[in-house]
Amino acid sequence: MIHRLQNISELIEVSSRMGSDINLIQATGGNTSIKIDGYMIVKASGKHLANAFSENIFVETNPQDYYYNKNGDIKIINPKKSSIREGDLKPSIECNFHALLPKKIILHSHPIEIMAHTMLNSFHSKADLALKGMNWKYINYAKPGEALAMEIAKSMKVDNNIYILANHGLIVCADTVKEAERLQSNVINKLKLNRRVLKDCELESLENIVESIPDAYLPNNKIIHTLGSDEWSLELARKSAYSPDHAVFCGIYPLIIKDINQDWKRLMQGHTYAIIEGKGVILFENSGKYLEDMLLAQAEVFARIPVEESVTTLSINQCKDLVNWEAEKYRKKMLEKLVK
Ligand SMILES: [Zn+2]
Repeated sequence: MIHRLQNISELIEVSSRMGSDINLIQATGGNTSIKIDGYMIVKASGKHLANAFSENIFVETNPQDYYYNKNGDIKIINPKKSSIREGDLKPSIECNFHALLPKKIILHSHPIEIMAHTMLNSFHSKADLALKGMNWKYINYAKPGEALAMEIAKSMKVDNNIYILANHGLIVCADTVKEAERLQSNVINKLKLNRRVLKDCELESLENIVESIPDAYLPNNKIIHTLGSDEWSLELARKSAYSPDHAVFCGIYPLIIKDINQDWKRLMQGHTYAIIEGKGVILFENSGKYLEDMLLAQAEVFARIPVEESVTTLSINQCKDLVNWEAEKYRKKMLEKLVK
């Protein structure tokens, strides 16, 4: 095990770079892998790519344990029964597609531009043109893990090296880290959307509000407030979660309030933050380490959705399926361990 981990310096470097870029990776989302000598080293569930240098975030697995392919008839195997475990680390929820994709290096990210683009119902007309000549596939929304791997298996071709996941993100595959990273930035650059001019918050009035609420505070990044101050962003925030990680970290629907005279103690029991209509966002003491990252990503994604464009968010059933999911509960538990 150890000798293979020593062999992955390039993977560690790219993972750290990706994890440190909030436009690519938020919280413990995204994952990377390398296949060496028939084995696969993949990010562990609940670990942050940004910590690739400071701790071991990887776990070694046997790719054959995650899928079965007999003459093109692909079946996804439940990794719980079969994976090789390193200490208390579990392979990423997304281990199945890493195993399945027939390339040495797999990078999976949640780029702001891709998440915004795939929300748009006009995605295909835009992307078909922008990505002309590239070997890419669009993957319909599926729950991360086995269901997503199965969806990828259905349209997988040896030549495809880019998979764009609806309401979720991007996968690139290559034989070298350098090539994979180049592909990743190429696709994102081609799918760049213009950021709208946003209606800013009035910081002073928010500061006054937050002072009157015990155990509440303001986020560090001002753009998060546009979820409340910008009319169109607020309209989008009223919809159900736009991505699986958003549902898991921020809940299915946000708490949106107009009047600040509230029983805040009671509200804080069921929520970690509130959007104040026309004003901005306040965070509660229980908001957790990565909530700000997730809200920042949401604000940036919504900033790229043109006003009145029709969009798709996750259905209520898709959201519920995520928040009640054991694998996601494990990922959150790992996160709590990290915070303590
Ligand atoms: Zn993902």
